[in-house]
Amino acid sequence: MKTTSAELIISAAKDHQFPGGPYPEVALSGRSNVGKSSFINTLLTRKGLARTSQRPGKTQTLNFYFINDRFHFVDVPGYGYAKVSKSEREAWGRTMESYFEKREQLKGVVQLIDARHKPTVDDEMMYDWLKHHDLPVIIVATKADKISKGKWDKHIKQIREGLQVDKEDPVILFSSETAYGKDRAWKEITQLLFS
Ligand code: GDP
Repeated sequence: MKTTSAELIISAAKDHQFPGGPYPEVALSGRSNVGKSSFINTLLTRKGLARTSQRPGKTQTLNFYFINDRFHFVDVPGYGYAKVSKSEREAWGRTMESYFEKREQLKGVVQLIDARHKPTVDDEMMYDWLKHHDLPVIIVATKADKISKGKWDKHIKQIREGLQVDKEDPVILFSSETAYGKDRAWKEITQLLFS
């Protein structure tokens, strides 16, 4: 898909700040440092739109990007943060629950996993939680350029088995260095949004 416009419209800390309107959306989730900002910027061909390597501990928000006047990408903060207080974590947990449980515009989730390593316990918990909410998930395995091609199948298998990925959920190898996987990622995302 060609991106004609992409704009951050709101960083929402509470559910009353989520934008209204009929536009379908896809959320993007993953451990911090997995390559989520790089993935968003590669897909949208925008260099600095999603900021790379956000500092742990800063205010957690759902960042809503409005794309081509037709749909939203929702950047979910990287999980695996330690540096927030218990009360902050609980408040944030409620915002996340309400988002993933009730958001009617949400058509599915892109979960990013580092292709080099076995999925972590956090990755497993996130995937299980999304499936518990009956959400379709596209797994994007990042940093594929750091693995030799001969080992790609083995690493995909490691992710499928580690997360026990549903048959209907695709696992896409991706690199923001080479843009490998970009067309396939768009195809799967477009299908979620508009079918
Ligand atoms: P985020 O915290 O998930 O948003 O991760 P970032 O997009 O900020 O990426 C974290 C680090 O990994 C940065 O140093 C990126 O340059 C690097 N990175 C992200 N994607 C790739 C990739 O596909 N290939 C390689 N080699 N490095 C990547």
